[in-house]
Amino acid sequence: MLKKVVYKKIEQAQSVFSLVSKMKKMRKVKKAKNVKKVKIKMEIETIILEFLREQYPDAKCELLHSSIWQLLVATILSAQCTDVQVNKITPALFERFPEVDNMAKAELFEIEDLVRATGFFHNKAKNIQASARMIVSVFAGKVPSAMEELLRLPGVGRKTANVVLSNGFGINSGIVVDTHVKRISYRLGLTKHQENVEKIEEDLMEKFPQKVWGELSHLMIFHGRKLCHSRSPKCEECGLKLRCHFYAR
Ligand code: SF4
Repeated sequence: MLKKVVYKKIEQAQSVFSLVSKMKKMRKVKKAKNVKKVKIKMEIETIILEFLREQYPDAKCELLHSSIWQLLVATILSAQCTDVQVNKITPALFERFPEVDNMAKAELFEIEDLVRATGFFHNKAKNIQASARMIVSVFAGKVPSAMEELLRLPGVGRKTANVVLSNGFGINSGIVVDTHVKRISYRLGLTKHQENVEKIEEDLMEKFPQKVWGELSHLMIFHGRKLCHSRSPKCEECGLKLRCHFYAR
């Protein structure tokens, strides 16, 4: 009788032991699968970044400026307008009003005349003048280097603030999401969002390390201008086609 009880206990202990070891094995497999998943995911982002770096070694901000204030003005003017067009009118604008305090004292009609060719000139001129006045009166004449403060300036949204922070101050606070970045991120499957720029920015920030945020947007903007056009992208010439959701459709 005693023997039977002992055998039973041993059997029970063995089955508990085997269950525990099975669970441990399952946990290990699950962990390995997750690691593999993360590795594959990281690999795709690295491939995208490396292809773009190789393709566009000179990608950079193309807006002409010689101070952070001028960069801010050029970025405000670039809304709904090409950098090439902005660069045509800013030399005359910056010659007439080179510093923030000159612009703060400028008459609105004079600024309007000088920025007319960039479109939406009345609003742009009003925002540039009001921003200049605020920088002089609130920020002691210096363009602020914090996102929250930049966002207080009239006409400055997250995109403009990101351009100024990254190109003017070398601070990667976020990622510039313009029309090219929006389109390419969606086509490459880096985001599920097509229009919501905040969500797209969040998705990109999650996927790429902070140190490349500024560079990434320049690379995507160059890719959008050279190959990944909105209407007829030159997919056959693109080294990302095998990774591209748009091409695979
Ligand atoms: S394959 Fe075509 S759509 Fe995809 S990223 Fe390249 S150019 Fe753009």
